[in-house]
Amino acid sequence: MPDPILDISNVTKTFGGLAAVNDVSFQVARGEIFGVAGPNGSGKSTLFNCITGIPFGPSKGDIKFEGRRIDGMRPHQIFRHGLARTFQKDAEFPDLSARETVSLGAHYGANLRGNEMTVACENALDLVEFAPSRRDAETAGLSVYGKKQLMIASALVSSPSILMLDEPASGLTRPEISELDKLLFKVNATGVTILIIEHVLGLLLSVSQRLLVLNQGAILTEGDPQTVIRDERVVEAYLGGATV
Ligand code: ADP
Ligand code: MG
Repeated sequence: MPDPILDISNVTKTFGGLAAVNDVSFQVARGEIFGVAGPNGSGKSTLFNCITGIPFGPSKGDIKFEGRRIDGMRPHQIFRHGLARTFQKDAEFPDLSARETVSLGAHYGANLRGNEMTVACENALDLVEFAPSRRDAETAGLSVYGKKQLMIASALVSSPSILMLDEPASGLTRPEISELDKLLFKVNATGVTILIIEHVLGLLLSVSQRLLVLNQGAILTEGDPQTVIRDERVVEAYLGGATV
């Protein structure tokens, strides 16, 4: 692939004797939506953690973002280079308003101040279609989808080139999942490359242009989502695997 936005080479992450991510290599093209699937415990979140340096980079291998090595950089440096993410568990600040929550990302993450910060926050909340009437209310009262919108807005406020989402559909109703589906296409259309881990297969197959499947830390297969999902090894890993 010429000029990938993300280039992962032979990345391994070990915890004691366990290789949670085992010699993983792949590339992501600028502007694509790239899906990551695999049974529970297959290393998906650990892979995202390695890429974003949270809390540390890989044990082995290297990661290039826009041609620059980022493995070994501190998480905030990686973030400021334009790689933002959300977590499987929402970071919640129940006493803060939506505006205040997104401001935290703008201030500490993107180093914005004053009017520039205010404008960036409103733009991010507008992009995720967060209800204007709810922006000053405490986030404790938000719906699950409202919290997801906020989490995505907090990542987008820094105008990242890559947005990485770890199971964003968990806890959502069907209509909310179709809202999220539309939102991901909308964010992608603004030029943001998206990496998404998702258990809700319908969403993953709808949005992903390519799909990578992990099993026990290693790549099982990668490619066109419809082909990948019909692969016997993938069916076996999901349905026949001991971890399911
Ligand atoms: P997934 O996101 O695919 O469900 P994870 O990346 O969370 O899987 O976990 C992959 C494996 O690594 C699991 O066996 C998990 O128990 C282990 N693991 C993840 N994080 C740690 C950690 N900080 N310390 C020890 N083991 C971990
Ligand atoms: Mg996970």
